[in-house]
Amino acid sequence: MPVDLNTSVPHSARIYDFLLGGKDNFDADRKAAAEIVKHSPSLPVSARANRDYLARAGRFLAEDLGIRQFLDIGTGLPTSPNLHEVVQGVDPASRIVYVDNDPIVLVHARALLTSSPEGSTSYLDADLRDAQAILDSAEIQALDFSRPIAISLLAILQFVTDEAEAYAIIDTLTERLVPGSALAISTVTAHNEQAVQGAKAYTARGIPAKPRTDDEVRALFRDLEIVEPGVTLVNRWRPAGPVPDDFHVQMSGGVAVKR
Ligand code: SAH
Repeated sequence: MPVDLNTSVPHSARIYDFLLGGKDNFDADRKAAAEIVKHSPSLPVSARANRDYLARAGRFLAEDLGIRQFLDIGTGLPTSPNLHEVVQGVDPASRIVYVDNDPIVLVHARALLTSSPEGSTSYLDADLRDAQAILDSAEIQALDFSRPIAISLLAILQFVTDEAEAYAIIDTLTERLVPGSALAISTVTAHNEQAVQGAKAYTARGIPAKPRTDDEVRALFRDLEIVEPGVTLVNRWRPAGPVPDDFHVQMSGGVAVKR
């Protein structure tokens, strides 16, 4: 079935791709991105800082927590390193299920299905807002629920603007996970004026986005145990080398473990 990319309307996946210097975007996306960057000039730096956080958090989940199964929702367009490259670098037998609801990500999903032979990657076209459908899918059912699973919600929860809905989604996703499982989050912070302006600019272009305070981000982890250093700007989460200044970084996040 042909995929309708609806190229005349800006999509968050393609705006983000453009901010990261990718090529999978169209005029409407580039125009929206340019307008948003006017309100939030640091956004490209912030997007890169978030992507670097993805790599560090992924490595932490695999190496420090020993997790070998991953459910990444809001995957975005393939951007190296992708999560499976990070975690299969720790253990090639790791299994990753990618989920996104954007047709362009579906079109490019093949580039995510480059698992090492020992492990697996699969792609599911589904909506975070229907968490139960994600859990019921054949792709997720193929995971071993008697062993830990790490769920990553990176740069997606700002698009779920209602707290009660966000809590319900996260409760559904984490309910059946065994102890030792984990949740990694990054989302737009309210503690940065550019982030607040950027979220307004997204909202004005038909993509409602919500900045959250660190307290609000902590609450998203529900009763999971947040690991050190807690909820921080993503550049400050276990940095491995030089990082951008806080001024440019518009995402906060952290990792929590189910006990
Ligand atoms: N996680 C990646 C990409 C973030 S871009 C990273 O951190 O680098 C945000 C992605 O979330 C986009 O690809 C967009 O299509 C996806 N997304 C937004 N709302 C969604 C929803 N309700 N269900 C599934 N995916 C969604």
